[in-house]
This record gives sequence, C-alpha cells and structure tokens, in this order.
Amino acid sequence: MKISMKTPLVEIDGDEMTRVLWALIKEKLIVPWVDLKTEYFDLALMNRDATEDRITEEAARAIMRLGVGVKCATITGNAARMKEYGLRALYPSPNATIRAILDGTVFRKPIPSTAIRPGISSWKKPIVIGRHAYGDVYKSAEMSIGEPGTVELVFTPSGGGEARRITVAEMKGSGIVQGMHNLDDSIRSFARACFRYAVSEKLPLWFAAKDTISTIYDGRFRDIFEEVYRTEFAEKCAAAGIGYFYTLIDDAVARAVKSEGGFLWACKNYDGDVMSDMIASAAGSLAMMTSVLVSPSGAVEYEAAHGTVQQHYYRWQKGEKTSTNPAALLFAWTGALANRGERDGIEALSAFARRLEDASLAAIAAGEMTGDLARLAVQSPQKILDSWEFVDAIARRLA
Ligand code: NAP
Ligand code: MG
Repeated sequence: MKISMKTPLVEIDGDEMTRVLWALIKEKLIVPWVDLKTEYFDLALMNRDATEDRITEEAARAIMRLGVGVKCATITGNAARMKEYGLRALYPSPNATIRAILDGTVFRKPIPSTAIRPGISSWKKPIVIGRHAYGDVYKSAEMSIGEPGTVELVFTPSGGGEARRITVAEMKGSGIVQGMHNLDDSIRSFARACFRYAVSEKLPLWFAAKDTISTIYDGRFRDIFEEVYRTEFAEKCAAAGIGYFYTLIDDAVARAVKSEGGFLWACKNYDGDVMSDMIASAAGSLAMMTSVLVSPSGAVEYEAAHGTVQQHYYRWQKGEKTSTNPAALLFAWTGALANRGERDGIEALSAFARRLEDASLAAIAAGEMTGDLARLAVQSPQKILDSWEFVDAIARRLA
C-alpha cells in the first residue's frame, strides 16, 4: 500500500532538462511508493509569459499558505531566451520573485558522498552557505545614461517632511547607474535564520561583508549580525559549542579555501549567489548541491542549486540519452517530503524520504553514477550511466 499524505506539497515545475528529470523522478521513484498530493504550478517559461508571470506569484503565495514547496529549475528570461521562445515580455527571475515574497534565507549544502573527491583537498566536511534572499542587486533600479549629468540619491519620507539627497556621481559622459536597498527587518531575520540553523546543526557561523568600503550599507549588516548574536544567541552558541566570526569578504574567501570546512557561511545576496556555485563545484558537482529557502514564517521551499542544464536539453531534444545528474533535484523532493511528513506527523513519509536518499547515495557508492560524478570519483566506475539508468539503479535499491 502506498504512503498517504495529508497536506499537499506545492509542486513548482520548470524548464528544459530539469523538467524532463522532474517527471522521471516522480514516475520512477516517488509515485510508486507515495500517494502523492500536490498543488501544481507550471512555471515553464511559456506559461509565465502567458500568465504575465502571475503564476510565479501564485506559487509563492501557495508556499506561504501550505508551508512546504518543491521547485524545479526555471529559465530566467533574457534577450536570447526572448528570441528563442518568442516571449511577449521579460519578467524577473522566478527565484528572485519567490524569495522576495517568502523574505527568506537560502541554505545551500553539498550532498556528501564518500565516493567523490572534493576539488579542494583540505575540505573534510561540507561548507553550508546561508544566502540572504532579499534586496541588494536583485531588487535594484538601473539606468543607462547617454550624456553628461548629475546622478543623485533622493529619499522622500512617506510621512511628509523634507527629502534627503546626495550626489552619486557627476557623469562626464555616457554610462550606467544602479540603486539598491535593504531593510533592517530583513537583515535581522536573515541573521536570526542563520544563527538558528548554526545552533541546530552545531556549525560555527561565519559572516563576511565589505564594511571597510561600504561603511553604511555593509556596516549595517555587520552591526545587525553583532547585535543579534549578543542579544539573542551568544549563550545558545556557547551551549552548542560553536562560535560566531565576522571578517571581510575577501578574507573569508581566502580562509574558506584553506579550511577543513564544517561551518555555515552567511553571505549577502550576491556573495551567496556566487560563492554557492564555487562551493558546489569545488565540493564536487553542481548537481550535488541542495538548496532550501526558509521564510521567517516557517514556510520552506526546496530546490536544486543548479539551473536547467540547457546544453544537455538540446542534446536530449535530438534524441540523446544524456548523463545529467538528477541527485540535487531528487534531494529537493526528499527534503520536501520529509519536512511535510514531520509537519503532518506522518513518520512513514519522512522515513521514505530518508530511504530514497540512502538508495541514491548507495548507488553512487557502488559506482553507479552519472558522468559529472565519474570524473570526480575516488574509484572510476566501469560504466557511466545515463540519467534513466541512474534512476533505475536507485529504483532497484528502493525496491
Ligand atoms: P546550469 O543549468 O546549472 O548548467 C551549467 C553546467 O553545469 C551544465 O552545462 C553542466 O555542465 C553542469 N551541470 C549543472 N547541473 C547539472 C546536472 N544536474 N548534471 C550534470 N551536469 C550539470 O547553468 P546555466 O547553463 O548557466 O543555466 C541554464 C539555465 O538555467 C539558464 O536559463 C538560467 O537562467 C537557469 N538557471 C536557473 C536556476 C534556478 O532555477 N534555480 C539557477 C541557475 C540557472 P556540462 O555542460 O559541462 O555537462
Ligand atoms: Mg549562482
């Protein structure tokens, strides 16, 4: 008999190769065992275009309402995609839209496998990245300027009162400008989310910014972290046997590479975007990195850290069985199912999710793996599996 569910998961479908793998994972690894209940949102690029991107917002609201979502990778529209898909308009990245609505923190963690050699040999334990998911360059205003002139920042209080203005630049010629912001409340809930995660996982917490250059903007981030640590978490950290450490972002990068790993690295939005890709590829493969967005409301969204694996998709369209690794997508599903099980008190669902993770790690450990992992394997496998063979190898172990 299949495991039954109570509350539906918010299922957010996506694009290209990950959409192909999404359906495969459900068909071969989940639906045979679980009476899957989902509220389905199709965020394929064409559907976002057809709904003027309303579907993205609806999906995010559904996560806030139901508590747990799982998302496939999606294309972020740009000029090339506009032409490729004949889009009517360009909308922001769905992830940016969802992150803004959940006002959450993204934690990215490599899936540890003993069968893979990390690219950085000193790393013994995973480095988890906590990425602030609100504001900065992801919610900025940009302007292209074609002639000399003055650029100013103007703040107008909504309660009346005098506007404040400062000069950003006297432009001597054409160029570009950008204005961005963040909110104390969002930074504070980011800091809290990171300390909470650090305490619960017993991981030392690092935070880094560039407050020597950006004394007000990055300085505020540093001050809020310090305040949250002192007033709310110093004792809890001590009890968990972990420390809090602030340093400059460039120093943090240099130290991280030489470290043994085993810490939570809290990053501002852009730093987290960039560093999580570095950590993922240095730890192994982008396909071995999971990601969870945690909202202060408690709502969570699980996804793979990688994109839609566009080049593999074009080859799949031509009939090739690609060796795309579905592990991170699968761990997004297991994370969501386990969490749903815990919330609804369905132990069988959480236990199934763990079994599915174990089955996939066991397949990899036995040398049944996709090409991205074969390149990193401690012991080279005899044969590189395509995605379908790899999923079958997991399914066999599950049965
Ligand atoms: P990507 O899809 O992450 O792929 C980059 C490269 O990483 C691939 O060409 C492949 O390398 C390798 N790779 C990534 N995932 C893999 C997997 N599961 N198995 C095996 N290899 C994997 O990034 P991209 O090509 O820069 O972006 C493609 C599209 O994804 C873009 O339209 C972008 O907007 C979107 N995107 C979405 C998200 C998201 O929704 N979370 C995140 C990032 C990007 P090889 O070609 O060497 O095999
Ligand atoms: Mg990135």
